[in-house]
Amino acid sequence: MKYYSTNKNTPEVSLKEAVVKGLAADKGLFMPERIEKFESLFFDNIQNLSFQEIAFEVSKKFFGDDIHHEILKDIVYDTLQFDCPVVKVTDSIYSLELFHGPTMAFKDVGARFMARLLNYFLGEHDKQINVLVATSGDTGSAVANGFLGVDGIHVYVLYPKGKVSKIQESQFATLGKNITALEIEGTFDDCQRLVKSAFLDAELNEKLMLTSANSINVARFLPQAFYYFNAFARLKEQGILENNDLVVSVPSGNLGNITAGLFALEMGLPIKQFIVANNSNDIVFKYLETGKYQPRKSVETVANAMDVGEPSNFVRILDLYKNSHKTISKKLKGFRYSDTEIKAVVKKVYNETNYLCDPHGACGFEALSEYLSGTQIGLFLETAHPAKFTNTMEEIVGAENIKMPEKLSVFMKGDKISKLLNSEFNEFKKYLMKGV
Ligand SMILES: *Cc1c(COP(=O)(O)O)cnc(C)c1O
Repeated sequence: MKYYSTNKNTPEVSLKEAVVKGLAADKGLFMPERIEKFESLFFDNIQNLSFQEIAFEVSKKFFGDDIHHEILKDIVYDTLQFDCPVVKVTDSIYSLELFHGPTMAFKDVGARFMARLLNYFLGEHDKQINVLVATSGDTGSAVANGFLGVDGIHVYVLYPKGKVSKIQESQFATLGKNITALEIEGTFDDCQRLVKSAFLDAELNEKLMLTSANSINVARFLPQAFYYFNAFARLKEQGILENNDLVVSVPSGNLGNITAGLFALEMGLPIKQFIVANNSNDIVFKYLETGKYQPRKSVETVANAMDVGEPSNFVRILDLYKNSHKTISKKLKGFRYSDTEIKAVVKKVYNETNYLCDPHGACGFEALSEYLSGTQIGLFLETAHPAKFTNTMEEIVGAENIKMPEKLSVFMKGDKISKLLNSEFNEFKKYLMKGV
């Protein structure tokens, strides 16, 4: 399978090149040249397959031409060493829990897959590869843990100073080894800009082999399609979708997760409607309403992993639907929630159902509450474990109701090792040039 750039100003590349480069030479994002559909028979029987089996079938549609099936199967099975269960919250709303991986956020899936794929591709290189990743919280931890201890790969995590939670920071800034945490005096968008500039800097790229592990990397965002298929299978298995349409609501920031969902849709997965749920960073919500895409500086919210002012995967959605606002606004319905609303939803859902949503999942839940009609079934992505946002959650439901899982408390015990940098590209570049 070849990968083209959304800017279409550079030749198509192989999967390996797309994964290693991350970003296309013309600053576009890579897209697979085609999306292969499943036969409807696949969906008739999907409930008989396990998560890993389903993921392997999906992965073959993306990567099957480029990687030997046995190797691909190993990568998929090794990535998915944890479940992504579907849990009932109300009569019509279900939660797709994506927080059962090592760092307890959905990004574990893409990050673990990418680390394994990159490691496979790098078998042929001797030069060290440097992974640059900008994070608003959960990407850094998922990528750092996905790559920790992998030979020949060094990971630099850039994060905005004071804008990620303590627990998030501890998950990537205490690891040491081949992981370097860079605390940037700026916003997430500054971090993202630094990473993008590094990829476009000729001198840096001559000296160092650089790649990205942000959701712009095809090896990170495509595997996220796996759990949409599996969620459909698990709902079907329980007889829930017999006569009812499925609506899927995705708490969104950089739009990697929902773009993977749209790929699943275009591969034939029977989803009636996708919902994009924003916090106050409502750039996509506004685009859907007005047809105008106006990125702007991000603002801080209690759902901080969605504090993105210029969602990088938006260009993929434009590309997928040929820049048609008409098509995109049919495929996606938008909702947005202020901090006050998010907190009220967390509280309401907890009081009424005993289910604890995190602030991101709460946006997804509430959008379904507003949107669903008739016999529709709603599924929202519970994108991280609520305990990752201790302060906010304790404020909403009380400390006695937030239990810190063992997996998270282990990270909290480590010492922080990070390097403070300002948001000037030249300072970042100088630092990288010095080496580790
Ligand atoms: C990253 C993240 C999001 C946003 O996902 P995108 O793919 O960037 O849209 C939502 N919730 C949580 C908890 C996240 O970590």
